[in-house]
Amino acid sequence: MTGSGRRVLALSGGVGGARLAKGLADVLPAGALTVAVNVADDFVHLGLAISPDLDTVMYTLADVVNAETGWGRKDESWTFMAALEQLGGECWFRLGDADLAVHVERTRRLALGEKLGAITASFCRRLGVTSEVLPVSDDKVATMVATPEGELAFQDYFVRYRCEPETLGFRFLGAEAARLNPRLLAALDDPALDVVVIGPSNPFVSIGPMLAIPGLSDGLMRCRAPVIAVSPIIGGRAVKGPAAKMMRERGIEPSPLAIAGEYGSLLDGLVIDEIDRAEAERIRGPRIRVTETLMRGENERRRLAQDVLAFAAELPR
Ligand code: GDP
Ligand code: CA
Repeated sequence: MTGSGRRVLALSGGVGGARLAKGLADVLPAGALTVAVNVADDFVHLGLAISPDLDTVMYTLADVVNAETGWGRKDESWTFMAALEQLGGECWFRLGDADLAVHVERTRRLALGEKLGAITASFCRRLGVTSEVLPVSDDKVATMVATPEGELAFQDYFVRYRCEPETLGFRFLGAEAARLNPRLLAALDDPALDVVVIGPSNPFVSIGPMLAIPGLSDGLMRCRAPVIAVSPIIGGRAVKGPAAKMMRERGIEPSPLAIAGEYGSLLDGLVIDEIDRAEAERIRGPRIRVTETLMRGENERRRLAQDVLAFAAELPR
């Protein structure tokens, strides 16, 4: 299936995409995986440059992630947060002590003019990550969420207001002027590329802002490898986060069919859960693979990754 020298490219937001990326990294030869990650959740908080999705992917691949939450670090301590709270500081976005070091160091290096991609690569090397982790762009992109009460910055919507406001639409500030990470373009054009896997991430606010950067959709359409998505919707619900709620707010029934509709002709294949088997025949366009898609632990993660790779090998170029 994936012989030596073959390559896999994954697109990821935070938790869902990171879990599948970890499964892929575990079953592929070291260095075969490139993960391109959303940066439109990134924001400056307490003066620090925070990249939530990049850090989730990095921590997950490095095996230092908090497995319960899917974000932040395991064995974390919270001395900084408690001290900040005592001072009446802003505590709605939780930053653990070890996590804080990443944001401080990233902020320092960005201020010196280093690119986000180079900083990420250096952190990943230090943490022992053997996959290539790429911010989709070194430029700033920011998701804005339209709600009945006005537009919200993404982390205000997502964390401060816990995804409670109704969503009316999304804008990705800076996306049109952003340049795709050149290493991502190289990965797409690599003749050794076997498959592009769009992880089970939120299609609207994790993958959507990546696709809004000029060149990525075209690159996916053009690339010779099959493009496969894994549905983040299982049995009408998102495993985590607001993907299903966002679909209902658009007047769409949350389902793998809606995921297929969202990605349209980009997809050659779609992986859906056993529980949604009956949906398979309603989906027009991509080939469908039905399997267990819930990743509760390491074994399920690896099994799904194997399945995705086997599916890719069956698809025509
Ligand atoms: P975020 O940045 O942390 O919100 O990350 P993502 O967009 O990557 O992840 C959120 C999406 O991951 C949600 O829509 C979830 O349904 C999906 N997700 C999380 N865990 C799993 C899983 O084990 N299996 C599947 N199929 N989807 C998952
Ligand atoms: Ca995210």
